[in-house]
Amino acid sequence: MNAFSRQLRQLFMKAFPKSLWVFHVNLGACNGCDIEVINVLTPYYDAERFGIRLVGSPRHADVLLVSGPVTRQIVPHVARLLEAVPEPRLIFAVGSCSCGGGIWYDSYNVVGGANKVLPVNYYIPGCPPRPEAIVYGVALALGAVTRKVAARHVSDNFLEEYRRLNPPLAARL
Ligand code: SF4
Repeated sequence: MNAFSRQLRQLFMKAFPKSLWVFHVNLGACNGCDIEVINVLTPYYDAERFGIRLVGSPRHADVLLVSGPVTRQIVPHVARLLEAVPEPRLIFAVGSCSCGGGIWYDSYNVVGGANKVLPVNYYIPGCPPRPEAIVYGVALALGAVTRKVAARHVSDNFLEEYRRLNPPLAARL
């Protein structure tokens, strides 16, 4: 990335919180998540007051908002979709299915969550997530609200440590 691209990217990142154009894609969802995404844009939740609006083409989008598990049928189309969204962009996985496959994770026609085929930046879990959770997740990602809990990573030797601290419970593992 050259200096001009870097400056352009910084400018975009500064502008993101004021005006986010979102392209919504169903990768194989049951429609539950999609209804909640649409709900966020209705006058009741009115996401447009934050500058968040749905666009009809991935070429106009800053954000790719995906729902559902990744089905085998959609895989060939995802690369074309990603190419169409200009950089810099953010990718949100909405719903348990797109976060990790959900209840379909080991189905014969599902390859898993959205991160199997897309560089997902943010995950909003729930089945389906409430509209408030979607608005909160986007606001958190943009730094519009403060984070309430710190990220915690499970170490590789977590199980060993767990066995050492909980011998009776570990015996059942
Ligand atoms: S997370 Fe739940 S509501 Fe959303 S696509 Fe999966 S099954 Fe449907």
